[in-house]
Amino acid sequence: MTFYPGPSKLYPQVAQYLQDAYDSGILSANHRSPAFMDLVRETERLLHEKLAIPTDYYIYFVCSATECWEIIAQSLTRRESVHAYSGAFGEKWAEYAARLKPMVVRLPFDLENSVEDETVTTALRAFAQAEVICLTQNETSNGTQVPMSALKIIHETATALSVSRPLLLAIDATSSMAGVDFDWALGDVWFASVQKCFGLPAGLGLLVCSPRARHRAVEIGERGHYNSLLFIHENAAKAQTHYTPNGLGIYLLKRVLEHVPPIADVAERLRRQASDWYRFFDNHPTWKPLVSNPAVRSDTVIAIEGQPVDIKLIKEKCKAAGITLGNGYGAWKDRTFRIANFPAIEEEEIEKLKEVLNYASWD
Ligand SMILES: *Cc1c(COP(=O)(O)O)cnc(C)c1O
Repeated sequence: MTFYPGPSKLYPQVAQYLQDAYDSGILSANHRSPAFMDLVRETERLLHEKLAIPTDYYIYFVCSATECWEIIAQSLTRRESVHAYSGAFGEKWAEYAARLKPMVVRLPFDLENSVEDETVTTALRAFAQAEVICLTQNETSNGTQVPMSALKIIHETATALSVSRPLLLAIDATSSMAGVDFDWALGDVWFASVQKCFGLPAGLGLLVCSPRARHRAVEIGERGHYNSLLFIHENAAKAQTHYTPNGLGIYLLKRVLEHVPPIADVAERLRRQASDWYRFFDNHPTWKPLVSNPAVRSDTVIAIEGQPVDIKLIKEKCKAAGITLGNGYGAWKDRTFRIANFPAIEEEEIEKLKEVLNYASWD
């Protein structure tokens, strides 16, 4: 039983899907063959349908979320991107971008704050040359999220700034895509990898782009890399990929998408479970949520703070009960643990973990 926020628990059906993949012969099919192109087309159709992605948004198959950080810097940014973040993944994105482009503006903010706070929006206005605003919708390291209401305000700020120059909004949704109901129109670039809310093994990334993002890629005309966005797009337009793709990952994604309910239903269940988790920890003698501000608490990654000795103890107790907890991350490594609230995790597993957490508080 694992609550690790990536790689995370697989859907149990994946065992059968793996066998089916082998039996179907698709794993030996050439990635430019009609059978494989059908698989790509059907998976894209299911992504649009199940995740309610707007029909005019493009979906590209890539390797990982990390790769998307680079694609955005190399293919959608001429010089300058602005990165607003409260945790380790947002910071890492800024670092990766800085290696590729000369101007990276960092706007770190406190994890209790919401990104649309005045400090960030005022700072955004100050960066007249920026071409992309980079946000982490769900900061896996500290269990915070940028709610859609905050994203709307950033989007409005960006739109107001776009009168004189186009500004794209790029959103790292690695640990929330397929778990949170996005208002896709608020972002130009969304990306994720499948080992979090999709309940699949790692090794496949999804990059979702608006027509505006596509337009930007054409304007810049960057073609220096195997994964230049223009090249990715040209292949995707033929239901192909720009390299020999992770066919097994795409097959498994298709099967999982066939099985999952529409995103609105999944998101509602996770929201309810998350608020149960926060209530549980708000009332717990040993633990408390790392984040106090309910407006920015994540629905999909619950970060819990406690004394390092208690954290060590609870991990041992969980291990003895056959449960893996998520370690703390970055600056919060020793003072926190994390619980994935991903769709593949079942109600009974949550109850089991709650029992262990309660038992630990009696010691
Ligand atoms: C896991 C994660 C990543 C990295 O994903 P990879 O598939 O390893 O590239 C990036 N951003 C966030 C927010 C994540 O949770």
